[in-house]
Amino acid sequence: MVGPKVIDGKAVAAGLRSRVADIAARLRDEIDVTAGLAAVLVGTDPASQVYVRAKGRACAVAGLGSFEHRFPADISEAVLVAEVEKLNADDTIDGVLVQLPLPRHIDAHRIISAIDPAKDVDGFHPVNVGRLWSGLSGLVPCTPQGCLILLRTVHDDLSGAEAVVLGRSNLVGKPMAALLLAADCTVTVVHSKSRDAAAICRRADILVAAAGRPQILKSNWIKRGATVIDVGINPITLPDGRNRVVGDVDFDSVRTVAGAITPVPGGVGPMTIACLLRNTLLAACRRRGLPDPLL
Ligand code: NAP
Repeated sequence: MVGPKVIDGKAVAAGLRSRVADIAARLRDEIDVTAGLAAVLVGTDPASQVYVRAKGRACAVAGLGSFEHRFPADISEAVLVAEVEKLNADDTIDGVLVQLPLPRHIDAHRIISAIDPAKDVDGFHPVNVGRLWSGLSGLVPCTPQGCLILLRTVHDDLSGAEAVVLGRSNLVGKPMAALLLAADCTVTVVHSKSRDAAAICRRADILVAAAGRPQILKSNWIKRGATVIDVGINPITLPDGRNRVVGDVDFDSVRTVAGAITPVPGGVGPMTIACLLRNTLLAACRRRGLPDPLL
């Protein structure tokens, strides 16, 4: 039996990171600018620390500057806003990201709204959200941007495709829906209150799963030949006690019907950091009035 195309996110991300590195080197050589990313980390959440370190390493490999700003978990909202404003004013920094989640006493919306939209490399600032939905150029959230790049490795033209997005978070589901709409898909968003999610998903030519539910999507949710992008990162413990990360898609079941599919790990995950580097470089160019580099 011929299986589906397995989309190699690691390889696509490596290509993007290498293009970012080439352009970052040109910026340094030609105009003496090192694009810089500042990551703000509040508290000691282990997963957040791992993510911030990984982002710093990826910047270093691509020749971007990276700066870590760590604050104690009990920092006040007002002081954190002031720290973000300092980064906005710092000309050596092109991108500011605030690692989520933040401690409960801090309103994440207020902190994100304090970031200069021109440096908002996560694309979560309301100005960038509005620009995305209005079809204007801005900074686009990294994970859905990565999903779209992976989709484009399979589909030259998404126009008219039935696209279903499972999940409606501000981080993934909603911006994914906006990007697919901008690509002329017919878009449906499924969430936890949707009736018969499986039946809606079965209509999809393009299915993006971002529900955070381990292996919820089985083969009977999938139209034959559909392209399935799995955003989920769900840690699970196997019956033998070993730990593993699985997606929202039951890969072994879905691969029997899908036309193309991303694996977990090695699919969407590597694209997220690659797109963060891309956004940092875009921000560096736009802030200096340079044209967008071809990435
Ligand atoms: P989230 O904020 O928890 O949102 C989950 C969404 O899924 C919600 O909109 C929820 O609906 C919906 N949902 C949950 N159960 C459902 C069900 N049974 N049927 C239909 N819809 C359901 O999660 P997120 O931040 O978007 O992340 C989603 C997944 O992607 C997680 O596994 C996360 O770890 C992963 N992720 C991966 C990357 C990456 O780089 N690969 C980046 C970000 C996130 P309601 O709105 O009705 O509650």
